[in-house]
Amino acid sequence: KLYNQAQEAKGNIRVFCRCRPLTKEEISNGCQTAVDFSAAKDVDVFADASALVTSVLDGYNVCIFAYGQTGTGKTFTMEGTKQNRGVNYRTLHQLFKIAEERKETVTYDISVSVLEVYNEQIRDLLATSTTTTKRLDIKQVSDGVQHVPGIVEAKVENIKQVWDVLQAGSNARAVGSNNVNERSSRSHCMLRTMVRAKNLVNDECTMSKLWLVDLAGSERLAKTEVQGERLKEAQNINRSLSALGDVISCLANKSSHIPYRNSKLTHLLQDSLGGDSKTLMLVQISPSEHDIGETLSSLNFATRVR
Ligand code: ADP
Ligand code: MG
Repeated sequence: KLYNQAQEAKGNIRVFCRCRPLTKEEISNGCQTAVDFSAAKDVDVFADASALVTSVLDGYNVCIFAYGQTGTGKTFTMEGTKQNRGVNYRTLHQLFKIAEERKETVTYDISVSVLEVYNEQIRDLLATSTTTTKRLDIKQVSDGVQHVPGIVEAKVENIKQVWDVLQAGSNARAVGSNNVNERSSRSHCMLRTMVRAKNLVNDECTMSKLWLVDLAGSERLAKTEVQGERLKEAQNINRSLSALGDVISCLANKSSHIPYRNSKLTHLLQDSLGGDSKTLMLVQISPSEHDIGETLSSLNFATRVR
């Protein structure tokens, strides 16, 4: 049996592990639980995520990721459902709430962008056919900030508007893929919130970013599938997830060189990982004995990055 501590803190990088319950199907198949999990209630996960919201409004960049094998609850954690709101909704809801509380002293200009990284290509899910570019790239300007020329930034004033934008993004994601779930497990879905703040007392302006990322599935490909397009996808996923692990682990170990440029994912996040940015990694695992190999591999990843 595995025993895992729910939470490890080290500086600005925090790692949580979340284990989904056995599914009805697993239970009816007599599947055994291989994980002895005795911590982290949902409230803990969300409490940590919403504490980071204050940092964003104070001018810090924040990244929150869901990492793990397909089917372990990454999307459930990030997107959630109407009955069971996820990290995206809760953090943005909190963002508007605190912004409102501060309105006497700070004005906030908030916009959201929705990106998909698939096969090392960045796609703008809010781009509409003619006026905007669908394929995006990264440009580094001397200010050390990652710029994505042409990216659509939808200005939002409340959580309802955010919700509509997210809906548009997820509709765009479905276009051109026969199987949305399949496609979404092979790509990284990245929600970027830009916060531009102006302090009315001292006229100070800050700009910060909140990234909410539903990563591609971390599972290794079955040997029978290793060919053609699937092989290319798998290599790209592997490359970007290892690059993410390398970057976070180098940051945690205070390495002098941080290899951001090894993947589009880490390159996009360059100004939001490290420095005074804050990172929350939610490592999702399955309780099933059949998934123990992938579970161990995800826990190893979690150990590496913390
Ligand atoms: P992933 O995005 O990692 O592929 P999903 O979020 O699609 O996984 O979750 C797979 C299934 O497990 C879904 O049916 C989801 O509703 C369910 N699930 C995941 N996490 C939980 C949880 N904490 N509680 C209840 N059901 C969950
Ligand atoms: Mg998913």
